[in-house]
Amino acid sequence: MLKVDGHTHTHYCPHGSGDHVEEMIIRAIELGFEEYHVTEHAPLPKKFLERLVVDAPVDTFAMDENDLDDYINELISLKNKYRDKIDLKIGFEIDFLEDFQDYTQTLLNEYGKWCDTGIISVHFLKGLNGWRSVDYSSEDTKTGLVSYFGGQEQFQLEYFRVVEESVVADLGSYKPNRIGHLTLCNKFKKSLGIERTIDLGKILHLIFKKNYTMDLNVGGLFLEDCGETYPPPDIIKEAKKLGIPLIYGSDAHAVKAVGRGYEKIKLL
Ligand SMILES: [Zn+2]
Ligand SMILES: [Zn+2]
Repeated sequence: MLKVDGHTHTHYCPHGSGDHVEEMIIRAIELGFEEYHVTEHAPLPKKFLERLVVDAPVDTFAMDENDLDDYINELISLKNKYRDKIDLKIGFEIDFLEDFQDYTQTLLNEYGKWCDTGIISVHFLKGLNGWRSVDYSSEDTKTGLVSYFGGQEQFQLEYFRVVEESVVADLGSYKPNRIGHLTLCNKFKKSLGIERTIDLGKILHLIFKKNYTMDLNVGGLFLEDCGETYPPPDIIKEAKKLGIPLIYGSDAHAVKAVGRGYEKIKLL
């Protein structure tokens, strides 16, 4: 089986470590990866950022629109520079925002032709007083989303309702075909009192019917409050049984995180 890291970030990410993407690529080569997907957070619409309520500068959640051309150009040159050593795939981690699908489609129409990979993820929901982040902090998620919806189960129902929308949404011919960290709502599961993930049979069937793949994201495995992959092993099993391809993703925002947990997920 090809050794692939399918989900990584770069120095274009304002909430990352600042480590340069080239150092991360070099690390991936050292670790023996044969394919490396660079999937930076695509820019977010200004109207959305104006309504994002969070205890952090709202421009730290994704790359800047003004950096798009540099991002693509730099990656094309790195792809060529390292082409004998690793197969570099260029793309974005796209946020699915129900109310801003025109913005996303326009961005994909303009930049999708330079991409050979991509992920579609849900990091934000409409909650208390506006848009709220699902994965910024447990306190923030608790007040802005869990209490707002009336409990952890209702929070999950809303999260997966939007994920389902992201699967079926028409975002044009460059829409990514991989669903990012399916259970990101579990990031603070211990603090939020989430004991089990609600039944995801319907979403998994939709993903399968669309011929999409899934991000097997190890981000949560390294967090005390979570301690599991997105999605967790029981859902991985269910997805595999259906025949949905899962692609390992380190979600690295730093050199030291490239390839983390790769050996562990091989056992799942
Ligand atoms: Zn990130
Ligand atoms: Zn993400």
